Amino acid sequence: MPKVAIAGGGLAGLAAAAALGGAGYEVDLYEARPFLGGRATSYPVPASPEEEAETIDNCQHILLRCCVNLLNFYERLGVRNQIRFHREFYFVEPGGRISILRRGRLPAPFHFTGSFLRMHCLDRHDKIGIARALMALRRERTRRKDLDRISMLDWLNQKRQTPHAIDRFWRQVLVSAVNEDLDRMAALHGFQVFWLGFLARADSYEMGVPAVPLAQLYAAEAWEKLGSVRIHLRCAVERIAAEGFTIGGEPITADSYICALPFERLEAVGLEAPRLEHSPITGVHLWFDREITTLPHATLLDRTIQWMFNKNGGRYLQLVVSASRDLTNVSRNDIIDLAVGDLRLFFPRVREARVVKAHVVKEQRATFSAAPETEALRPATATQFPNLFLAGDWTRTGWPATMEGAVRSGYLAAEAVTAAAGSPARFLLPD
Ligand SMILES: Cc1cc2nc3c(=O)[nH]c(=O)nc-3n(C[C@H](O)[C@H](O)[C@H](O)COP(=O)(O)OP(=O)(O)OC[C@H]3O[C@@H](n4cnc5c(N)ncnc54)[C@H](O)[C@@H]3O)c2cc1C
Repeated sequence: MPKVAIAGGGLAGLAAAAALGGAGYEVDLYEARPFLGGRATSYPVPASPEEEAETIDNCQHILLRCCVNLLNFYERLGVRNQIRFHREFYFVEPGGRISILRRGRLPAPFHFTGSFLRMHCLDRHDKIGIARALMALRRERTRRKDLDRISMLDWLNQKRQTPHAIDRFWRQVLVSAVNEDLDRMAALHGFQVFWLGFLARADSYEMGVPAVPLAQLYAAEAWEKLGSVRIHLRCAVERIAAEGFTIGGEPITADSYICALPFERLEAVGLEAPRLEHSPITGVHLWFDREITTLPHATLLDRTIQWMFNKNGGRYLQLVVSASRDLTNVSRNDIIDLAVGDLRLFFPRVREARVVKAHVVKEQRATFSAAPETEALRPATATQFPNLFLAGDWTRTGWPATMEGAVRSGYLAAEAVTAAAGSPARFLLPD
């Protein structure tokens, strides 16, 4: 079978390797770090001398049921059963009042009607406006040609959304899904999240949370059944060209090559980098001496912390702030204080609890910024060389920077490899 060399062991490179390995190709994947998963990974954090190091995700990663290619990738690795799906979204107001969004008996797109009407955190005007905008989104999705040129906030203002509806509904869902503020996010991406995740099918909004640390999903055992895939850790690719990779000063050759590196690394290996910008995410991990909440997760309204995930009986909470530019220059200690202060407003038990341990992960280069007029800057899979292909969440996948986007890019690159080898295969599943 043809030989393929892949640079980068994030989800894009891994998805390409799994697809090609499954089709019998000889695959060598080179990853610079000592573990797989790239930006969706986990690692042990230093603990106090009396405790063992604890393995944590760099940040909580979630998916929706509409991430069909990501789920297909997990299936290939035999780990799909490690994803737990949740049917409820909990919106918590300062003070602790909870509104639940869940599907009822009506078919899509009306499946949320009952729970939406009962949400306390929005008033009648907010809800009427949101319902009108959702119907407009369905109509305008395929008709409007300017969705990549205007921001989501522009569009919401055109639809006369109330400030509450914008802050407590649209912003709360979209900023975490797209990792960008509404005024910096192309409306195209906001449309896609709401169309695929909330309107197209009644179950597509269900939120998948991995039940194990992320790196465990791509562990060595998973690759054993894909015998023709060889993973090389701690192998930084120094140069990528049509003639092959350079690693440790030595040439590595194959029939085809896939570059699945983050876009900011392209120049360093001799390739042209797209002019994309980054958007940061900050994750805060807090361990308390007692149970803080029984909710499995919640979106927290009107404060800096946007999401809470309950990782261990309410004592270990993972908190997420997407598009966290405002925290860039805030010290880690101040971020911890801010997070505990926010939590006190939502969960009264925090007032009596003691923080046992805390860890802050600031990912300044978390994703590319899905700003208006960015789509044209995202390169497609093919390059100027017939045997070199690009993958990565930043390539033109039709999705914002997500695990699903990364896997789609990997499958597209794998398809391009099979086409170049003269036996085109299909790996990508349609939305
Ligand atoms: C904090 C945070 C939270 C997120 N939350 C979510 C979420 O909830 N849901 C979601 O869907 N997405 C989320 N994302 C986005 C998601 O993690 C990414 O879109 C996806 O993991 C990108 O995968 P990738 O393979 O394209 O890139 P990467 O994961 O960046 O993979 C690139 C790989 O290349 C390796 N590499 C770099 N240079 C070299 C070299 N010279 N040689 C060899 N290897 C090299 C890197 O080490 C890395 O492993 C989040 C991202 C972050 C940072």
